[in-house]
Amino acid sequence: EEDAALLAGGFEEYDEDAPLRQDPVVAIVGRPNVGKSTLVNRILGRREAVVEDTPGVTRDRVSYPATWNGVNFTLVDTGGWEHDARGIHARVAGQAEVAVDVADAVLLVVDATVGITATDEAVVRMLRGKGKPVVVVANKVDDIQNEADAAQLWGLGFGEPYPVSALHGRGTADMLDAMMEVLPEYSAYGGLDKSGGPRRIALIGRPNVGKSSLLNKLAGSERVVVDDTAGTTRDPVDELIELGGRTWRFVDTAGIRRRQHMAQGADFYASLRTQSALEKAEVAVVLLAVDEVLSEQDVRILQLAIESGRALVLAFNKWDLLDDERRRYLQIEIERDLAHVEWAPHVNISAMTGWHKDKLVPALDKALESWDKRIPTGKLNAFLGELVAAHPHPVRGGKQPRILFGTQASSRPPKFVLFTTGFLDPGYRRFITRRLRETFGFEGTPIEVNMRVRE
Ligand code: GDP
Ligand code: GDP
Repeated sequence: EEDAALLAGGFEEYDEDAPLRQDPVVAIVGRPNVGKSTLVNRILGRREAVVEDTPGVTRDRVSYPATWNGVNFTLVDTGGWEHDARGIHARVAGQAEVAVDVADAVLLVVDATVGITATDEAVVRMLRGKGKPVVVVANKVDDIQNEADAAQLWGLGFGEPYPVSALHGRGTADMLDAMMEVLPEYSAYGGLDKSGGPRRIALIGRPNVGKSSLLNKLAGSERVVVDDTAGTTRDPVDELIELGGRTWRFVDTAGIRRRQHMAQGADFYASLRTQSALEKAEVAVVLLAVDEVLSEQDVRILQLAIESGRALVLAFNKWDLLDDERRRYLQIEIERDLAHVEWAPHVNISAMTGWHKDKLVPALDKALESWDKRIPTGKLNAFLGELVAAHPHPVRGGKQPRILFGTQASSRPPKFVLFTTGFLDPGYRRFITRRLRETFGFEGTPIEVNMRVRE
């Protein structure tokens, strides 16, 4: 009763049917050297992250959690690739495009001391076709005398240019205020249509793992509709493929079929494409090739999939190439390197021969069902009650934090909140997470367990 009284005292209500809500996404675009990295650091309020203009330097993290005036958003940075004179206009615009596609608003950074260049114009043309809100950042306006430089950027056709010095911080507050005005409360792109549209799948994996072979095999014998929503050939294209009697949407298949060949920055580009596909998908199929040792890139891509909060299926491809020695080693790799995703269903396939391709649908169904799952509050608290009675939290410094109540705050993926009288040990939280999985399943979905400490 005491606990019930505490609970009545103002914990926020959770809407069990609330849609998936993700922070809005802001893409920073512009040609090299205009100051995008400097601006990212300025907005993130730290120095360590990004400015490293060494040619050839690529980064694999491209999105950062950010906050302005208490509003959270995700910043997607498109810097960090090799500055190559050949085909630079198209390349800058092309790389920016991937980020713009997942963004709710765009910061277009221009060097006001240089003015509008041909590369800027290529970026502007790409942005016009997208119809997303754009805030023009007239950068390198370090003092008031240079503000006139900013005025010429009205010519870009995206409204008022905001004079900013990313280096010194001048003008960034006004610029960010303007961005907040056009930013929706939640991302329109990470979100999920509950309209019953086809389930959205991202096929991801390092180059040569067999993505396009699998796509061809799945599409080959079945009905395929190319869905070019944005209406231009340069946009990422989804394909609707019928499998197991139902239609599925494979997102950004153009990115798989087009096969980016970039000597420099390929890793960066691949990682950006992976993140962009994950943003749009509900479930990720991560392909791993069994004929080769699990690589760092495989692990990194898998990590991106886990962090994206999407449902997850692991497909072990090229099974036809597996010999006895590799088979033994694969088992070791799975136990050693994939233990943290033991919750994901495994399917063994051969994209080349089509062997086991029909195993994919049941695994996708299983993962998506877990991803959607909601545990009723009553059931969850009965589980917590029994668990805590049998395994109470260890006493720490004379105190024993208690769990008052738990609720599933959201699904897709499932997130739980435990209301407690003190901080739970990380080990105890892991124990609860493990028991949640044992009791309720959740095969194929990441789950999150958070705490709210009641003082
Ligand atoms: P990016 O290639 O667009 O990411 O550009 P960087 O952020 O790496 O910046 C390119 C160069 O411009 C660096 O030498 C920065 O120090 C410099 N820079 C960036 N912002 C400003 C600014 O507001 N004022 C001045 N004077 N220099 C800047
Ligand atoms: P992607 O870069 O991930 O799209 O990989 P691809 O589909 O282009 O495949 C890379 C190479 O692996 C090609 O030569 C394929 O023929 C080959 N490959 C793909 N899947 C299989 C498979 O299941 N078995 C075998 N033996 N080769 C495969």
